[in-house]
Amino acid sequence: MNQAAIPEIPAIPAPLGAAGPIPLGEALPRRSLQARVVWGSRVVTIGGDAPVRVQSMTNTDTVDVIGTAIQVKELAIAGSELVRITVNTPEAARAVPAIREQLDRMGIDVPLIGDFHYNGHTLLTEHPDCAAALSKYRINPGNVGKGDKRDRQFAQMVEAAVRWDKVVRIGVNWGSLDQELLAQLMDENARRARPADAKQVMYRALVQSALDSAAFAREIGLNPDQIVISCKVSGVQDLIAVYRALAARCDYALHLGLTEAGMGTKGTVASATAMGVLLQEGIGDTIRVSLTPQPGEARTQEVVVALEILQSLGLRTFNPSVTACPGCGRTTSTTFQELAKQIDDFLRAQMPVWKARYPGVETLKVAVMGCIVNGPGESKHADIGISLPGTGEAPAAPVFIDGEKVLTLRGEGIAQEFHQIVENYIERRFGAAQAAD
Ligand code: SF4
Repeated sequence: MNQAAIPEIPAIPAPLGAAGPIPLGEALPRRSLQARVVWGSRVVTIGGDAPVRVQSMTNTDTVDVIGTAIQVKELAIAGSELVRITVNTPEAARAVPAIREQLDRMGIDVPLIGDFHYNGHTLLTEHPDCAAALSKYRINPGNVGKGDKRDRQFAQMVEAAVRWDKVVRIGVNWGSLDQELLAQLMDENARRARPADAKQVMYRALVQSALDSAAFAREIGLNPDQIVISCKVSGVQDLIAVYRALAARCDYALHLGLTEAGMGTKGTVASATAMGVLLQEGIGDTIRVSLTPQPGEARTQEVVVALEILQSLGLRTFNPSVTACPGCGRTTSTTFQELAKQIDDFLRAQMPVWKARYPGVETLKVAVMGCIVNGPGESKHADIGISLPGTGEAPAAPVFIDGEKVLTLRGEGIAQEFHQIVENYIERRFGAAQAAD
């Protein structure tokens, strides 16, 4: 009878002490040129030592000046540091300066990016007010024309950027890849003795399209620090592979995003997974989460997700964080879920005002826990935490502030009392910081 091979027993790992210190978890530093996107006195830097920037895109008809300005304002207030708008027709190009004026009147100085495909060379040339009102142009090298028109039309757009001193994103997209370049690389690959996988040729075409276009833009007169690059695809593993290749081959600032990420949970998870891996490796200087809004969902959801990705990675801090346990059979009431949500909603709703009133409040950590197992421990790690009673525990909720148990809440009014305790803590800690300035 054949005996199954006995698997080798893995070696016992070295004791922790012998292996030296465990490195701290943190993203690798980025190395890229720094682009400056300017509107009036507002300068949004991308790359270099700048924090990873959040950007978004409107889905209004750009011809609708008021509707577009209102959505840009909403996106900016939600935390978008740059907002892109579609510029697809002469009417849209004429609307751009009016949108800019409307935003300026509303006190919204977020820089606008114009998204151009097919006719950008004509629109930027024939509508100088549009070219001037935008702070950055997005050019898709796959959509600037075919044959001998391609270089001429691309050059016209870059010349406008040089004339108006604007930053350009050379935004290559999987769905609109330069078909002539792809066909050429596919032919070359087919002639090789050992042809590469078709997907690898596609990766190469994306990266080469972006870098060749950037080199051409520099020949025309654009400075390297006026160039931002993106190569968007819709698959998580594809995005990681393409951006690793891109980052290894250039030091342009990189715009990172999964194109057509999808709706709801799927789009959110796919974007966070792909961008999380790359940002941890120091790849990506500005991000956009391309979520398809669910019916009735605000466009600002894509900004909320982008902020959460950066905050989760510890790259930036935008809002106080609320740690809540998932709940289990030890807590059968929904009290802690409701309290965690109430506190989270309350903190987010107050942030537009608190940012100015309480400097540093975005670093606040609150814990709302369901029972005694992890409740006191997690609450002690937070700035302020509450451990609610689980099933069968005495109806008492200890509250911890700065790691110390300070009081125990009881009875029906626990939620309201904890709410007040959080507010008082913020006023005392962060209001005092402002008074001392
Ligand atoms: S803290 Fe308690 S209720 Fe919450 S998940 Fe842990 S054991 Fe369950």
